[in-house]
Amino acid sequence: MPLSHTRLLVHLDHIAHNLNYFRSFLQPTTKLMAVVKANAYGHGAVALSLALERMKLADYLGVAFPCEGIELRKGGVTLPIIVLTPGTSSFSELIENQTYPEIANFEALKLYAQVAKQKGLSQTPFHLALDTGMHRVGFEPEHIPFLIEILQKNREITPISVFSHLAAADEAQHDLFTQSQIDLFTQMSRQICDSITQKPILHLLNSPGTERFSHAQFDMVRIGIGMYGTSAVDQSRLKNPSTLCCPIIQIKEVPFGETVGYGRHGKTIDGAKTIATLPVGYADGVNRHLGRGACKFLVNGLLPPTIGNICMDMCMIDITGIPARPGDMVTLFGASPALTAIDWAKILDTISYEIYTSMAKRVQRIYSDH
Ligand SMILES: *Cc1c(COP(=O)(O)O)cnc(C)c1O
Repeated sequence: MPLSHTRLLVHLDHIAHNLNYFRSFLQPTTKLMAVVKANAYGHGAVALSLALERMKLADYLGVAFPCEGIELRKGGVTLPIIVLTPGTSSFSELIENQTYPEIANFEALKLYAQVAKQKGLSQTPFHLALDTGMHRVGFEPEHIPFLIEILQKNREITPISVFSHLAAADEAQHDLFTQSQIDLFTQMSRQICDSITQKPILHLLNSPGTERFSHAQFDMVRIGIGMYGTSAVDQSRLKNPSTLCCPIIQIKEVPFGETVGYGRHGKTIDGAKTIATLPVGYADGVNRHLGRGACKFLVNGLLPPTIGNICMDMCMIDITGIPARPGDMVTLFGASPALTAIDWAKILDTISYEIYTSMAKRVQRIYSDH
């Protein structure tokens, strides 16, 4: 990847701390799946997965798409990998790479069994998804008897795990619903376990589920956003996973009565201003709605606001009165006193997941463990 001006510094020690926090809710025998889909929520899937493997912080990895799983294998990752959103056109490659798919409906199940049969395999692993109320993907309660019949007939495949996904584990107002999902999962997974010989790994909880419903940890939990520093319970327990920074590339004195940037939305109507230009824009993941003063970046200990519209590859901040020179580093988000990705999410009326996954490929990831 070419060297760029904008860097996402990934703090491996903080990510390790966050995983250990989630581990603290678990029995010693409960496994932990680190979810590294969407380029590890923007943090760089191959590098982060290799680090997690080296530090023995994860028992399993979860990705969304086949290309993501295969990228990890090509990068040398050896941990077990589950492909959560596999489609049906890559089963053969997935099996060859030992990246086993989630199977969530009868069509996919039949096709997967066919592919395994053609390859002359038996007991080919897959991960069986149950719908306990999310209503996105997965087998429903009334499907279970026929599902069991198919599993008993098709010995070329075997569910090495059975799982479901919680819809609202982070919201107390939905706790009764979450408990009903837990109960339904217990019931459905028991029916399946009772009818097959090899006991599958059972898993239900995501990050907020692990913090708030650890009694339902079953054999494994799946930790995504928690690893990347967002807690549903106590934000002070987690550490900032990454810092987005770039240098100032130019500083201008803009006289009274002028405007800054596209559409002339930045105005110097209250006097001359000192404007610093940064080599980072909305194409990098700095959402355009952070412009026109909606966000502040950290420069030499102070927090000047953006001014004018965010451009595709650049943006401007109003550093009037702040001593700074071209080349000085600016922290866009990261540890206090800079704003965090969670603060950005509040400004943008979204969730930290979307801030992290919006970091563009051209933002260089740099890893540190201290
Ligand atoms: C993305 C995902 C997770 C991780 O969820 P977090 O809220 O980030 O912990 C877990 N399980 C499934 C099925 C997912 O798709």
